Amino acid sequence: MENKKELRNWLNKMELAHPLVIAGPCSAETEEQVLNIAHQLKDTDATVLRAGIWKPRTRPGNFEGVGALGLKWLQRAKNETGMLITTEVASPTHVDLAQKHDVDIFWIGARTTVSPFIVQEIAEALRGTDKPVLIKNPVNPDLALWLGAVERFYEAGVSNLGVIHRGFSTYEKTRYRNNPEWQIPIDLQNRFPDLPLILDPSHIAGRRDIIFDLCQTALDLNYDGLMIETHNDPDNAWSDAAQQITPETLDQITVDLRIRKEEG
Ligand code: PEP
Ligand code: MN
Repeated sequence: MENKKELRNWLNKMELAHPLVIAGPCSAETEEQVLNIAHQLKDTDATVLRAGIWKPRTRPGNFEGVGALGLKWLQRAKNETGMLITTEVASPTHVDLAQKHDVDIFWIGARTTVSPFIVQEIAEALRGTDKPVLIKNPVNPDLALWLGAVERFYEAGVSNLGVIHRGFSTYEKTRYRNNPEWQIPIDLQNRFPDLPLILDPSHIAGRRDIIFDLCQTALDLNYDGLMIETHNDPDNAWSDAAQQITPETLDQITVDLRIRKEEG
């Protein structure tokens, strides 16, 4: 109960809009790319810049992130644009490094939420923090694992908790990369009624053309925010190229969703 209020208070204190819009590339690739995207996003409704530094790839041999070096780029983007910054942390070492680089919001990835041992270690590393922590659903449609991760962070005294719905993997071929299974986050909210809920349409869709519709559904369902992968050159992104959109498209989506108040 208190948690949503606390995260809301935090958003108000930071003068961040509701719904919260988090945008930025799947992966930080180069300093130039991060700064380019951040400068384009600073004039949109996105108030938080996301970028993966350590990338949990399903199979080896793909780009696995630039590592701690990327934290300096994010920090520079924050200083130059005034945006807040968020990245995925998947170990206590990541937490430590991210904290040293002024990361404002931590997120827990879908491949981490499935592992109670790692979740517990990260929760310990973040014990008592007043920074927001956003927990993605586990890759598989298992409500108990998601709830368990939420409980571990609560028990570690992390008060600004939120969750991110990024869809669930399935062996069936569907129009989605990850099935939304809209009922699962609703069931989670039934257990934690005031936990803020953010949609990650990018990993649900796996493609650009249905991002807007997914965002609209989320706002109709009263979600508290959106996390949308946004890249200056989506087709040539080093990860998740098919689902990323440009900052211009992001801007238009927020107008069409009526998040953005058109001037005049
Ligand atoms: C990501 O946000 O780029 C990511 C790896 O997401 P997920 O943990 O949802 O797969
Ligand atoms: Mn991604």
